[in-house]
Amino acid sequence: MQTRFTQAQLADPDIAECDRILRACVHCGFCTATCPTYLLTGDELDGPRGRIYLAKDMLERGRPADAITVKHLDRCLTCLSCMTTCPSGVHYMHLIDHARRHIERTYRRPWRERALRSLLAFVLPHPARFRFALRAARFARPMRSLLPQRLRTMLDLAAVTPPASGSDVTEPTPAAAKPAEERASRAVRRVALLPGCVQPVLRPSVNDATIRLLGRLGIEVIVARGTGCCGALVHHLGREEDMRAQAIADIEAWNGELASHGLDAIVVNASGCGTMLKDYGFLFRRDERYAAPAARVSELARDVTELLDPGDLAPRRNVRGLRVAYHSACSLQHGQKIHQHPIGLLRAAGFEVIEVPEGHLCCGSAGTYNMLQPELADRLRERKVRNIESVRPDVVAAGNLGCMHQIAQGTRIPVVHTVELLDWATGGPTPPGLESLTDAA
Ligand code: SF4
Ligand code: SF4
Repeated sequence: MQTRFTQAQLADPDIAECDRILRACVHCGFCTATCPTYLLTGDELDGPRGRIYLAKDMLERGRPADAITVKHLDRCLTCLSCMTTCPSGVHYMHLIDHARRHIERTYRRPWRERALRSLLAFVLPHPARFRFALRAARFARPMRSLLPQRLRTMLDLAAVTPPASGSDVTEPTPAAAKPAEERASRAVRRVALLPGCVQPVLRPSVNDATIRLLGRLGIEVIVARGTGCCGALVHHLGREEDMRAQAIADIEAWNGELASHGLDAIVVNASGCGTMLKDYGFLFRRDERYAAPAARVSELARDVTELLDPGDLAPRRNVRGLRVAYHSACSLQHGQKIHQHPIGLLRAAGFEVIEVPEGHLCCGSAGTYNMLQPELADRLRERKVRNIESVRPDVVAAGNLGCMHQIAQGTRIPVVHTVELLDWATGGPTPPGLESLTDAA
């Protein structure tokens, strides 16, 4: 694709990067066929190629974002299905990230929109605030029908899972799983777990299962003091300063831990956060102080399944015959190119795993997308649930909390995290929601 940036514009390294990305695009349109929003609306501007043109035009002219550009870029899920499809290796994610920052700097949204986005950025990355908000939302349920749809979506989220009680996970946690001596030769022996922000409030059992599962393999799991949200939620809202503050807290904490006690990996069990951590090196590449520490975090970041081999999973519970529909989270399959491995792990643990038709399509969760674009998100969930129910599973497994909640709102089939199933099969407790299946297993 030809670009028309001036030399002065290209002096800006972010624009130079966008120029490189844009030039890789040969506008073949293959990506359009696998874009969930294009499939729903049939509008070229709701597909990756159309969005690339909109971003190109906005950046080349160096003008403030306009309402049309904002509308179609806001509708992008950042699911990255287009990156998997693209034969030319166009890095759509870095282009849209920059376009969103430009929108955030130059476009004034209607006040309701601004208020909602500010609220999400204020509440979600902070477990204590989020826990409080969920409790408050439950009192507001009787007024549900009087609220705008976006706020209804938030209330529904509160209804699916009440906030878990317990301590704020951003507090330091001592070594939670001690290394087993018989596994001391394992290459990965000490890891830091990203505690996360929303997940420990809505589903603390995921971190618990991760710690138990890795502990059984002799891996010591710690939560470094000062770590919490990875910054992805605000990053996708285009709020760069908020993202930097949250990411820097994590980067400093892990580098401190690395220097003092050593770390073999940073383990993530929410794949949206994993994609973010693996991109820290790029996001901080020009930061004099944080470029190297951020790159170290990206090198060490691993989805929890990457630390496991099928041979590690000696089943201690007979789960044969339990049909698991594996939902491949976009941030895992497209963002981190991890798809078959979790399926292999589940099979090694004894489950019967079925892939979901149209598995490349997003469920509509996408961070805060289901709250900001509820109509499109609801349609994507309906489509996903239809596909899941078509294979008649006993349970749905996913590696990302956002997907779990999005899907659970549309089906009675229990939805659990992949590590909860692996932990259960290898001796851990029954995952929440599967109690009725315990006898069957
Ligand atoms: S598939 Fe790649 S090269 Fe083709 S239009 Fe899409 S982004 Fe451009
Ligand atoms: S990230 Fe997903 S929604 Fe956005 S353009 Fe690419 S395929 Fe479409």
